[in-house]
Amino acid sequence: MLRRHPWVFSGAIASQSGDGSDGRAELVDARGKTLACGAHSPRSQIVARLWSFDGRVPDLSLFRERFEAARSFRREVVPPETTGFRAVNSEGDLCPGVLVDVFGEVAVMELVTEGTERWRDELERAARDVVGPGRLVVRESGSERDSGRRPPLPPGEGPGEGGERASFLENGLTFFADVSSGQKTGFYLDQRDNRARLRSLARGRSVLNLFSYSGAFSIAALAGGASRAVDVDSSETALALAREHRRANGFPAADLDFVRADVFDDVRRRVAAGESWDLVVCDPPAFAKKRGDLRRAARGYQDVNRLAMSLVAPGGWLLTCSCSGLLSADLFQKIVFSASLEAAATFALAARQGAGADHPVSIDCPEGEYLKGLWLRRSA
Ligand code: SAH
Repeated sequence: MLRRHPWVFSGAIASQSGDGSDGRAELVDARGKTLACGAHSPRSQIVARLWSFDGRVPDLSLFRERFEAARSFRREVVPPETTGFRAVNSEGDLCPGVLVDVFGEVAVMELVTEGTERWRDELERAARDVVGPGRLVVRESGSERDSGRRPPLPPGEGPGEGGERASFLENGLTFFADVSSGQKTGFYLDQRDNRARLRSLARGRSVLNLFSYSGAFSIAALAGGASRAVDVDSSETALALAREHRRANGFPAADLDFVRADVFDDVRRRVAAGESWDLVVCDPPAFAKKRGDLRRAARGYQDVNRLAMSLVAPGGWLLTCSCSGLLSADLFQKIVFSASLEAAATFALAARQGAGADHPVSIDCPEGEYLKGLWLRRSA
């Protein structure tokens, strides 16, 4: 904490007083001097997430200030023709436990800790004043994850049918986010930079988009001149939205381009059939959600990457991602290289690309970095 790390673990507390009903945590040292203030989540392992280290009490004016700072940051980093972006990124914007995503005229604020849920009214006011969207949706998901950060939308849960959609632009392309379902925002804003790179590589090439969700990678590839893009996902609602994304951007939506399947089965079948693709995207859900999952998750990543690699044509590319915060970048890269040995395929690592600059990570809290993307080119 003295190093400004914003998390306080329950085991680190010597004694506490007060009932915490205002959601506030004030940390004092043995002599009673205030060290830091933050949001209190009594039932979480991370009992407090700190907002200030100068004795300042979190209130409406602090929320406004922090949101304003986050907004002016975004003015510098959000690309043109882009109206969907993360406006507030929790610790990365010194607003632990608060996420705000903007989708055109709609903003979705997610309160991801019990403490910030208690501050809902004031956080909502600050978001209205500063982010100033036409409409603000507030979502509470108070139960904290072990990693303290979580990827958007859990696997298999696309936006609910008939949900309210907000349309927005990303690099001039039209997308929809479901903003009314009980789930988080329903669009993976964090992959914007990877979509842009895919677009730049796509001309005349075939694209296999594994764990496609609403097919946003395919839209970027088609905009870049891809000859064909196939989306594979287990969720029918996700694929329905993928079809809509094609129509909305003026691309045909042939049935064969949307495959509802378990990716593991689907890629095995494709490998057996001897298929080959110029560009393969593999962006699975977080296989490791808690520490105990790591070993199994590592096996899952290695299997799916081995299979995906076998499908990449010589001179083609694989973009492989992991959004498991618990899996380090280093370990992920090792897993991917083991997969290439198993696949007996030679790849070169051309770039590493995680979430875009609208998802800043506090260097005091590196745990906020979760998305890892490796761009691998297969030898010709
Ligand atoms: N690449 C997407 C985000 C992927 S999120 C984007 O940029 O928008 C992960 C997706 O994997 C979800 O849509 C979920 O439905 C799907 N999924 C999870 N497990 C799966 C499995 N075993 N087979 C197929 N799809 C799966």
